[in-house]
Amino acid sequence: MDLTFSKEDEDFRSEFRSWLDTNLPAQMRTVDWWRPKSEAEQFQIRRDWEAKKAAAGFCGIQWPTEYGGRGGSPTMKAIYDEEMAKAHAPRTVNPLGLAFLGPTVMAIGTDDQKRDIIKPLLHTETIWCQGFSEPGAGSDLAALQMKAEPQGDSYVLNGQKIWTTNAMHGDKIFTLARTSSPDGGKRHAGISMLLVDMRQPGVEARPLKQMTGESEFGEVFFTDALCPQTEVLGGEGNGWMTAMLLLSFERGSSAIGQYTEFKGQWDAVVDVAKQVDRGSGKAVEDPVLRQKLANSLIELECLKYHSWHVLTQTSQGKDLGFEASMTKIMWSETFRKVSDTYEAVLGTGYQVPDPQPGLSLEELTTMSLWSRSCTIWGGSQQVQRSIVAERVLGLPR
Ligand SMILES: Cc1cc2nc3c(=O)[nH]c(=O)nc-3n(C[C@H](O)[C@H](O)[C@H](O)COP(=O)(O)OP(=O)(O)OC[C@H]3O[C@@H](n4cnc5c(N)ncnc54)[C@H](O)[C@@H]3O)c2cc1C
Repeated sequence: MDLTFSKEDEDFRSEFRSWLDTNLPAQMRTVDWWRPKSEAEQFQIRRDWEAKKAAAGFCGIQWPTEYGGRGGSPTMKAIYDEEMAKAHAPRTVNPLGLAFLGPTVMAIGTDDQKRDIIKPLLHTETIWCQGFSEPGAGSDLAALQMKAEPQGDSYVLNGQKIWTTNAMHGDKIFTLARTSSPDGGKRHAGISMLLVDMRQPGVEARPLKQMTGESEFGEVFFTDALCPQTEVLGGEGNGWMTAMLLLSFERGSSAIGQYTEFKGQWDAVVDVAKQVDRGSGKAVEDPVLRQKLANSLIELECLKYHSWHVLTQTSQGKDLGFEASMTKIMWSETFRKVSDTYEAVLGTGYQVPDPQPGLSLEELTTMSLWSRSCTIWGGSQQVQRSIVAERVLGLPR
C-alpha cells in the first residue's frame, strides 16, 4: 500500500480546496440553509453549482481531456472525492451518467453519441437516469419486460421502470428494452440499450416517497414513447453485453469519499451522545454504547485502509474486476454500522429530527434512514456476496 502523494497530487488538492473555499459559501454547507427549499429548488441549486464547478475544470477528473475531462489519475479522483466530502459539498446531480453512461459511451459509443452525450453530461446540461429495474425485474434483471417495437425510423416503447433515481429531474434515460423476442427462450437475447428522451408526451415520471421523506427516485411509465433507431448504445440486440460493460465501470473506485463522509457522521454521533441525557447520566457514559462506537470506528478505519489499498492497486493499473464487490459490501455495511450507533444513542427517537428539546438532528436522521438503501441499490448485499463467493473465491454455485 502506498500512502504517499506526489507533488502533482498535492498541487491538485490545494487548487481544488481553494476553489471550494471561494465558491462554496458557508451557508451552503449547512442543513438549515437547504431545509426550507423544495426538492425541485434544491436540485436546481445543486445543478447550477455543479455546472460552475465543471466550468472551472473540476469535473470528469479521471476522464480524458479529449472528452472534456481533466485527464487525472485515480489518486486525483480520490483526492477530489475526499475534498468534496470534507467541504460538505452538494452531491452530484448526475450520478448515473457519471458512474455508468459516460465511460460506456467513451468505450463503445458512436462518434455522434460521444459528441452529444459526454460534455453536456459533465456540465449538467443533460441529467441522465438509469432505467433498468422494473416491478418484476431487479436482481433478476433478465426478467425485464419493457418492449421497444421498430416502427419507421423509431422504436415505440411500452412498459414501466421503477426505483429510477432522479426520475423527476431527468432529461434522458438509458434504458433496457426488448427489441425482439427472446431467442429460443434465452432471456438475455433480444435486449437493447436505448437512449430515450424523457421530455416527451409518452414518458411519465411519478415520484416515490422514501423513508427519508424525500422522493429521490420514482417510477417511469412509457406509453407509445418514441426513440430514434440511431439512439441505441452498443448495437441492437446487444443490450445485455452493453449493460454488463456499463455496470463494470463502477469497479475500481476506492471508497475514500465515503470514508470521509461517514467519519464526519461518526464524530457527529459522538457529539450527540455527549449531549443526550438519559437521566442516569449522559449517553456517552453507557459502556455498551461505548463498545458500539468503538466497533464502528474500527470498521471505519478498516474501510480507510481498504480504500487506500484499492487506490494503490488501481494506480498501478490493476483492474479489480469482481473484487470491487467487496468494496461495495464494505462501505455500505460500515455506513449501516455508523447509523446503528446513532440509533443506539437515541433509541426509536432517532427517526425524528428533533428527539429532545434543544437537539436538531435532521442530517443524522436522514443519514440513518438513507443508509438502509445503500445495501440495496447497485446490487443488493446478497447478490454482491454471491458475486464474491463465485467469481472471486471460486466457490461452487
Ligand atoms: C435508493 C435506490 C436507488 C435506486 N436507483 C435505481 C436506478 O436509478 N435505476 C434502476 O434501474 N434501479 C435502481 N434501483 C433499484 C435497485 O437496483 C434494485 O432495488 C436492486 O437491484 C434489487 O432489486 P429489487 O428491489 O427488485 O429486489 P429483488 O431483486 O426482488 O430482491 C429482494 C430480496 O431478495 C434477495 N435476492 C434476490 N435475488 C437473489 C439471489 N439470486 N440470491 C440471493 N438473494 C437474492 C435480494 O438480495 C433482496 O434482499 C434503486 C434502488 C434503491 C434502493
